[in-house]
Amino acid sequence: MNALAATNRNFKLAARLLGLDSKLEKSLLIPFREIKVECTIPKDDGSLASFVGFRVQHDNARGPMKGGIRYHPEVDPDEVNALAQLMTWKTAVANIPYGGAKGGIGCDPGDLSISELERLTRVFTQKIHDLIGIHIDVPAPDMGTGPQVKQTMAWILDEYSKFHGHSPAVVTGKPIDLGGSLGRDAATGRGVLFAAEALLNEHGKTVSGQRFAIQGFGNVGSWAAQLIHEQGGKVVAVSDITGAIKNSKGIDVPSLLKHVKEHKGVTGFHGADAIDPQSVLVEDCDILIPAALGGVINRDNANDIKAKFIVEAANHPTDPEADEILSKKGVVILPDIYANSGGVTVSYFEWVQNIQGFMWEEEKVNNVLKTYMTKGFKDVKEMCKTHNCDLRMGAFTLGVNRVARATVLRGWEA
Ligand code: GLU
Repeated sequence: MNALAATNRNFKLAARLLGLDSKLEKSLLIPFREIKVECTIPKDDGSLASFVGFRVQHDNARGPMKGGIRYHPEVDPDEVNALAQLMTWKTAVANIPYGGAKGGIGCDPGDLSISELERLTRVFTQKIHDLIGIHIDVPAPDMGTGPQVKQTMAWILDEYSKFHGHSPAVVTGKPIDLGGSLGRDAATGRGVLFAAEALLNEHGKTVSGQRFAIQGFGNVGSWAAQLIHEQGGKVVAVSDITGAIKNSKGIDVPSLLKHVKEHKGVTGFHGADAIDPQSVLVEDCDILIPAALGGVINRDNANDIKAKFIVEAANHPTDPEADEILSKKGVVILPDIYANSGGVTVSYFEWVQNIQGFMWEEEKVNNVLKTYMTKGFKDVKEMCKTHNCDLRMGAFTLGVNRVARATVLRGWEA
C-alpha cells in the first residue's frame, strides 16, 4: 500500500471511531493547496538540470501550515501528500498551533555539489515564496535538508527575505546564528527518547538496560542513539545507507558517532559485527526504532520482528498490513505522529522565539519539550481508553478530533 493510501486509511478509521460527519471527513481529507513547480538550475559544469519541486499544504484550521522539505530521489506527489496530511495530525497531537504541510524535491542531494544545492533551494524558494509565510506556511528541515547541509534553511530564509524583508520566522531549523533554536538539532531524537520513556514507564520499565535496534543513522537516528546510550539503554544494532552493524553487548555510541563523522557511515566500525542491513528490523531487541524511510515494516518482515515495542521515529514506517500482523503478535507500536513530534514541537519554540525576538536557554527548550511529549502521551492514552483502540488510532483520533473541532468552530461560510 502506498503512503497516501495507508495514511488515508488510518484517517478514515479514526473518522469512523469519532463518528465524524461524512462531509467534514471529506473536507479534512482534501488538501488545502498543492503546489508543483519546475526547478531548473545550471550545474557546476555549465549544463542545465531540471527538477520537480512540491509543496502540499494540507490544512490550516488550527494555524499556519507547518512541515519539512525533503530532498530525496523517491519524493513523489503521493508521498508528499501523505506526509503533509500526517503533519496536520502530528501538530494537533502535539497541541501546537499549526496545521500541516510538506515539501520536497525529487533529487539525490548526494549527487549535487553544495553550490548546486544552493541554486536549487533558491530557485524552489523563488517559485513558492508568495505561498509561504510566517502566518501561512512555515517550512523546516527533513531528509536531505537537515544538519548534513546546514545551510538549506538559511538559503530559504535569505531568498524569502529578498522578496519580503528579513523574516527569520518564515522557516525553522535554521542555523543558530540566523535565529535557530538551541536544541532544535537534537529535538526529534530527544522527543523519541521522551516518547520511549513514557511508553516504557507505563509498562513498569525504564530505558536503562533495554536493548534498542535503530534503523537509520541520520539526524534522528543518531541523536536518538546518543541520548538512549546516555540514559543507560543498550544500542545493539544500527543501520544506515552504507550498511549495518550489531553488537549484542551494546555498541559504544560515542565511538560510533566519531567513526561515522570520519567515514561517512557505520560500515567498518570496529566495535561491532557487520550484518545484512535488512536484518536490523528483525534483530533480537526489546525496542525497534525505525528512523529512516516510510513503508519499511510491511507484510514481508512483520512476522519476523522480535521487538516488543516499536517507536516510530520515521514518518509512516509501518504499513497497515504490518500493523495488523504486529498487533496480533502483541507488539506495541508508538506511532509516528506522536513519537517523532519532538522536531516540529521545537520548531514551534523556534518560531515563538523569532516572533518574540527573545532566545531561550537550551535547558528550557529541552524541559518544555519534555512537558509536551509527556502530555502528548497522556492525551493519546486517554483517546485509547475512550475509543478502545491501539496507540496509532489513539493518536489519529486525538489529532483528527482537534482539527475537526477547529474546523467546525471556524464555520462553513464561504
Ligand atoms: N520534518 C520534520 C517532521 O516530519 C519537522 C517538521 C517541522 O519542524 O516543521 O516532523
